[in-house]
Amino acid sequence: MSANRRERALEALARRVDLPDAPPTNASAPLDYYGKDVFNAAAIRKYLSRGAAEKLLATIQDGARLDPNVAGDVAHAMKDWAISRGATHFTHWFQPMTGSTAEKHDAFLDLNEQGEAIMTFSGKNLVKSEPDASSFPSGGLRCTFEARGYTAWDPTSPAFVKRNPKGATLCIPSIFCSHTGETLDRKIPLLRSIQALKRSIERFMTCFGVPAARTTITLGAEQEYFLVDREFYLRRPDLVQTGRALFGAAPAKHQQLEDHYFGAVKPRVLNFMAEVEEELWRLGIPAKTRHNEVAPAQFELAPTFEELNLAVDHNMLTMEILRRVAEKNGLVCLLHEKPFAGVNGSGKHNNWSATYGSRNLLDPGDDPRRNSIFLAFLTAIVRAVDLRGDLLRCSTVTAGNDWRLGANEAPPAIVSIYLGDRLTETLEQVERGVFEEYRARPKTLKIGLTTAPRLEGDDSDRNRTSPFAFTGNKFEFRACGSSQSCAPFNTYLNASVAESLDYISERLEPVAGTPRFDETLQGLLAELIKSHKRVIYNGNNYSESWVKEAERRGLPNLKTSLQALRPLLDAKNHQLLEKYGVFSAIELESRYEIFTEEYVRKIQIEGEVARDMAQNMILPVVLSEYGKLAQSLQAAQNAGLAAGIAGIKRSTETLGGLLDELQERIAALADFKTVDVENCERYIEATKALRSTVDALELVVDDAKWPLPKYREMLFVY
Ligand code: ADP
Ligand code: MG
Repeated sequence: MSANRRERALEALARRVDLPDAPPTNASAPLDYYGKDVFNAAAIRKYLSRGAAEKLLATIQDGARLDPNVAGDVAHAMKDWAISRGATHFTHWFQPMTGSTAEKHDAFLDLNEQGEAIMTFSGKNLVKSEPDASSFPSGGLRCTFEARGYTAWDPTSPAFVKRNPKGATLCIPSIFCSHTGETLDRKIPLLRSIQALKRSIERFMTCFGVPAARTTITLGAEQEYFLVDREFYLRRPDLVQTGRALFGAAPAKHQQLEDHYFGAVKPRVLNFMAEVEEELWRLGIPAKTRHNEVAPAQFELAPTFEELNLAVDHNMLTMEILRRVAEKNGLVCLLHEKPFAGVNGSGKHNNWSATYGSRNLLDPGDDPRRNSIFLAFLTAIVRAVDLRGDLLRCSTVTAGNDWRLGANEAPPAIVSIYLGDRLTETLEQVERGVFEEYRARPKTLKIGLTTAPRLEGDDSDRNRTSPFAFTGNKFEFRACGSSQSCAPFNTYLNASVAESLDYISERLEPVAGTPRFDETLQGLLAELIKSHKRVIYNGNNYSESWVKEAERRGLPNLKTSLQALRPLLDAKNHQLLEKYGVFSAIELESRYEIFTEEYVRKIQIEGEVARDMAQNMILPVVLSEYGKLAQSLQAAQNAGLAAGIAGIKRSTETLGGLLDELQERIAALADFKTVDVENCERYIEATKALRSTVDALELVVDDAKWPLPKYREMLFVY
């Protein structure tokens, strides 16, 4: 029976001749529908009175407190707009500590006093809702007997309409807190950190005498993912339950030819991508780049950067849409950090910067040595990352990311900064208090072709191994996992940078506008660079020598996830996050509990799924194969054959050895009564050991009898 599971999947795929045609070319289409499912400025102006519209836009764009009197008008307008877009329901759309988004729909439909059906949606409905907080992770902040929790409208992220085949739902981006005001989500701390950083930037810019301007923190989140055919997925309980292949021998060909990265996208995948983009564009999510990634069946989507809070919401929606559209196309989108051992895993690069008016604070300009605002801002970041590398590392913790970090495909657990040679030289000059004229390198590249256009070379090469790299006019943090929300990383980074900027402003304020300003700034930056340059590293972060060097420099190396969560309990981090109103100590401790528990549970689920599959899918096949071999051996011996006996014996013994080992390793996993922080590492090792036996078996058992789709199928047949 099980022998044919894989064959059935392959047959189904072989029959798949129905690849849809490419959609008709209509270059103007995206402009016709871009942002149409968002209650954006255009919709606001169309559906609200001018006064109310301006008040709402001031909140969205400038963070002005919303006049409570306009909530009723806004609700009314939102309802009319949403109904015009086909909506029948509304929901507060929020981000509890489960890692995904949550929603509970209510119909606009209601009965009036005469018992007639009407469509209603009030200011009260818009502003607040009350889901049962006890059913979401709270790390001890909420018990069932005090279950009250609130979701509240976040007016800074526009409402949108989410479509389904039978209608649509008005989604209101919301925060989620306990009834005593503690955060139960990822959005509140993020918003608090954005508020703090903006204040610090404004203070910092005032020191330089720059007139007030709108401050925006920006994020562009690159999303990596895998696609596998649903036929295979459904035959892999591990993928279904854990998002990751717990077994699977590496195929002869995987990514070693480097032929997938940037390769031509297969038509079926391109169709999927186009459908994803259409949905994203309708929601005003500026999907920009799409391409094949390094591993087979791995892809990437990157949007144009946006305001941070919005970009985080948009990334959450992007993940949801990737999953849903994949399903519609007979595919499954795996957002797990390491679905397939042996090939690259998936990350989420966070590109971060800040603008002040029209000025990108991380744009070095033509000559960074003369750009004192840039130099001071950069130095503040260097200081922040040196002081808070542990928090940034903490933001990358998930059970899945463990398999990826530091494994020659993603940055190691040591957080350092890459600046490139030129900027590093510039900071060295500042430190030494010298000013050398910038010697521009010959920039035009020599290609040797008369027909090629002139190519300008970049000032510095890229360094793909650094966790936190300066990439021209932004920083790119590369350690977050593909399934993670961008919120925690950015929350910690914002607070850390805010603190460093304030440190600088405090020293500059007394001399601001005086002739002593330049000298004070020069002295201060020199001092800060000297103290914190240990965190700058332009070399190969994957190398063994860096691990030693980093240790010598005193940089933390929090190797395991459980170690990496400890900074949440650290007094120095409590001080920082409390000072900036981002987290209270209680909230941080609750997060430590949530993450630790989630980590241990995931490890336990993986072990249990692996054991179950080994016991109920692999073992029966091995037993039957072994039985057949043993019978053949017997028969051959009875027949008095001379040739072939040795061969059958060897096969039987190889299989028998692995059979014994398989049972031992299944038993070893079953021996764990509980899994907790103490024995978690040992449990992971036991699960790994079981895998190595199963993978060895995959290589010796008759291919036709192997019940699980193999790597060579999942990663190449789609
Ligand atoms: P690469 O990672 O290959 O250098 P890109 O240069 O295309 O790729 O940029 C990657 C991401 O960085 C994109 O999402 C882009 O929008 C984003 N990005 C560019 N400039 C900024 C900025 N000032 N702030 C935040 N993100 C930015
Ligand atoms: Mg990138």
